Amino acid sequence: MALLKILRDPDPTLRKTSRPVDAITPRIRVLIEDMKDTLRKAEGVGLAAPQVGVLRRVVIVDMGKGKLQEFINPEIIYTEGKQEEVEGCLSCPGKAGIVERPAVVTVRALNVQGQTFEATGTELIARCFCHELDHLDGVLYIDKVKEMLDPEEN
Ligand code: ZN
Repeated sequence: MALLKILRDPDPTLRKTSRPVDAITPRIRVLIEDMKDTLRKAEGVGLAAPQVGVLRRVVIVDMGKGKLQEFINPEIIYTEGKQEEVEGCLSCPGKAGIVERPAVVTVRALNVQGQTFEATGTELIARCFCHELDHLDGVLYIDKVKEMLDPEEN
């Protein structure tokens, strides 16, 4: 088990665009395992590779009941509706704000075996898909926030 250091805003790496993974090498498999360990330890819902300083299109999302799913080269292929909820980010500790996101989001990606799969999320998972995929393009939720909340009220 290896814990990775989570970069914090305004680290410039968080603002860069990540490159696709062209082969699922042992190095990528280790990255995924380490990201899962790091996400579990941080008690977050999702983690994107640029948050641990690796500019590759890999995210991990907690799909519920502790099932951490890797998404390699993820793309949003369908969205529906909208929701406004409170979001935070492991790279922006101590902050939270209200962000508008789609209500339903379907993502297509590769798993660590290199198989294409699709996953659909609502509520927290839908927000997490959008939030984590934004990280791959150097976008943070604080760029999209409608209203930052008073930290005292969190
Ligand atoms: Zn984040």
